[in-house]
Amino acid sequence: MLTAPRKLGLVFFPAFDWAISPTHPEREERLLYTQDQVFEEGVLDIEGIEEFKPDLATMQDLRRVHFCAPDEWSVVTESHLISAGGAKTIAMSVLDRKVDRGLALVRPPGHHAMRVVHGARGFCNINIEAMMVEFLRDAYKIDRVAIVDTDCHHGDGTQDIYWHDPDTLYISLHQDGRTLYPGTGFPHELGGPTAVGSTINIPLLPRTSKEGFLQVIDGIVLPILKEFQPELVVNSAGQDNHYTDPITNMNFCAQGYAQLTERLDADIAVLEGGYSIEGALPYVNLGIILAMAGLDYHTVREPDYDPVKIRQSEDTTQYIDSLVGKVIEYWRECPDILEKNRNTKKFDERERTIFYDTDNILENQRERIRVCRDCSGVLSVDSLTDRGYHIFAVHVPRKACKACQELGREWFETANLRSYDRVFLQDRLEREYLIRKR
Ligand SMILES: [Zn+2]
Ligand SMILES: [Zn+2]
Ligand SMILES: [Zn+2]
Repeated sequence: MLTAPRKLGLVFFPAFDWAISPTHPEREERLLYTQDQVFEEGVLDIEGIEEFKPDLATMQDLRRVHFCAPDEWSVVTESHLISAGGAKTIAMSVLDRKVDRGLALVRPPGHHAMRVVHGARGFCNINIEAMMVEFLRDAYKIDRVAIVDTDCHHGDGTQDIYWHDPDTLYISLHQDGRTLYPGTGFPHELGGPTAVGSTINIPLLPRTSKEGFLQVIDGIVLPILKEFQPELVVNSAGQDNHYTDPITNMNFCAQGYAQLTERLDADIAVLEGGYSIEGALPYVNLGIILAMAGLDYHTVREPDYDPVKIRQSEDTTQYIDSLVGKVIEYWRECPDILEKNRNTKKFDERERTIFYDTDNILENQRERIRVCRDCSGVLSVDSLTDRGYHIFAVHVPRKACKACQELGREWFETANLRSYDRVFLQDRLEREYLIRKR
């Protein structure tokens, strides 16, 4: 019998009874072919690979991360809570040392879900990785975490949730936002005024192949991870960079994904996108499982795999050479920018519009942060949708100083209920979540 050099935990939850619609790309078939492949290859018979049943995420798990408007049950189904719960289960199995590495093959995905949730964006309602990470921070006293997002789309939700958090490094590789949803994720997006350098964006040209992905992992991701020194590395493992994916334009392959997984060596991987349900997902998932378990993956190959046909152009190789230099250069400047912000600003604001493409809701946000010298700063979000729903949300960060915590309480208590439908306080220091209603 085959024995895995490293113990690997698997959670498998295809959400058989839930889909956005029967023909939507994010539907239950996404994982059925993988399930067949996993059974056929006898993966679960390998000594050291263990399957776990997902837990249900709780309201508390949600309230550490999100402000759901008007409330949690308006934006989630039980399937979403099991998907987030599956990520949580796999994380616990790793931190309890039942296994060395963990992979959650779950859906619906989560990396487009931002801090405020009025509905679904990019097939995502709640951010399953962020819920997992914040649960771990409370339950296991984990502090520094790195999330490496290898989904083809920019993980704008995860970026938003960790934009102001200097203890969470968010690195995203994705197809250039000028050519793909959601249109964000450029190298100058480096994090908020008190967390500059904790967000790293690596936009790739359409038709980038294995060589390009691995060059970016070696040239940017691994050096930055080494310097950041995370206690835990999480891979948002989206598999829609595959050359057969119907909604993207990249030329990545199962061998490439397995090599990337081996080099990244994440503690936990959580499935995100991937819509080539028959041509890619079974092979990519198998490659990732074998790589995480330390097993030989060299025989994993798509039936129509032709490396010459999907090879990236010379221009793409040159683009990546210069991109690696540029991203590293930006990142080196971050400590100085951070220091300058703390010396010159008291508060910082940003205004933006967020479109919920899955639910057709347009949101206007004004975010305000105290640029504090002693902590990452208390944050407020004033959010109004085109349906007329208006909320005010206050986030007191995990390591808030006393002044920021008191200011947050004051913002929450004095917000005028004649202007807002709901006022929220998420006090991560006191582990409290309070709501004022009109
Ligand atoms: Zn990504
Ligand atoms: Zn994606
Ligand atoms: Zn402070």
